[in-house]
Amino acid sequence: MIFFDNASTTKPDEVALSIFEKTNIDAFYNASSLYKVGVQNKKKLEQIKHNTLSLLNANLHDNFIFTSGATEANNIIIKGIVRNKNSKLIFSSAEHPSVYNCAKELESQGYNVVFLPLTKAGIVDENIFSKEVDINTAFISIIHVSNETGAVNDIKKLVKHAKSINPNVIFHSDGVQAFGKIEVNIRNLNVDAYTISAHKIYGLKGIGGFYIKNNINLKPLIHGGGQQENFRSGTENFAAICSFEHTVTEAISNQAIRYKKALDVCNHFKSKIQQALPNTILISGEDCSPYIITLAFPPVKSETLVYLLDEKGFLIGNGSACSSKNKGNRVLNNMGITANIIDSSIRISISKNTTKKEVDALVIALKECVESYMSKIKITQKV
Ligand code: PMP
Repeated sequence: MIFFDNASTTKPDEVALSIFEKTNIDAFYNASSLYKVGVQNKKKLEQIKHNTLSLLNANLHDNFIFTSGATEANNIIIKGIVRNKNSKLIFSSAEHPSVYNCAKELESQGYNVVFLPLTKAGIVDENIFSKEVDINTAFISIIHVSNETGAVNDIKKLVKHAKSINPNVIFHSDGVQAFGKIEVNIRNLNVDAYTISAHKIYGLKGIGGFYIKNNINLKPLIHGGGQQENFRSGTENFAAICSFEHTVTEAISNQAIRYKKALDVCNHFKSKIQQALPNTILISGEDCSPYIITLAFPPVKSETLVYLLDEKGFLIGNGSACSSKNKGNRVLNNMGITANIIDSSIRISISKNTTKKEVDALVIALKECVESYMSKIKITQKV
């Protein structure tokens, strides 16, 4: 089985798994306990928080809150920050459902929510962004790297522009598909909040978190024992957080070298698939993250390709795995892509371990699947 759906999740590395198991055996204590081993866990948590902030190149006086993953982090940020129904809240149309559906919920409660359209390349249209941001804008959330296409928003530029219009605006970015894959530097981006998740970068599911500037007034979403400075109550998942530390450290120390390799594999795939199937429609453009390649072979339906490739031992995605139950594709639709291309769009997402040999095998399998589908259509049409 060859896994080409690494944007939906990645295989956890052995060390991430063993740290989780060992910590749960040797140091299962509650980090809020007063006895020595509890205090030790608390100290370690603080140290991991600092390490994470420095890996993000954030100010160490700011905060990093551990959560069960990016979905929870996005909910805490969006629902915790937003309070004034008169102010404007801006979101891109490319947001992951964990952001987009929070925005929809706020809209249904009567908040003034604006969804920005996308360019053909799948990023926020900077002209429209400039026109929309005003002194009344309280909150902006723009995804860093799209989970659908790999399109990369210029967050630094957007933040700079938004803050020049309203210095009090709170700018959040969902960095789940960016952190550990492209360079992420919080000081440089100057965002107020930033979300990450371990299971997209060879860590465990159920652990992630968010960076937040220390001057932001965040109302807790989850009430309880007041852990993590009351930002997120609940006994800290100490073993998962220790494993998370390994995951983020590895991701950052290898980011540049993994990026180079991913780019090489991505370009190899793009050129091979276009040679094998000249009618291939590449949706992910040149400027996209090399880890995500969205493409289409109309009229072959994406579900059909997913099933046929599964039979041959290749696992691929059709759009966002998190939203696969939803019909259509909001993001591709917003990019102006026609319905027949959307219906046949698939997502190939590569990992640090993907090889050119695996990609070559995928291209052969894709060619066989597309050609066999097309020949069946021809027979049906003749009949
Ligand atoms: N944001 C983005 C961009 C994602 O790709 C995902 C995972 N599909 C999430 C948020 C949700 O992450 P988690 O699974 O950690 O809740």
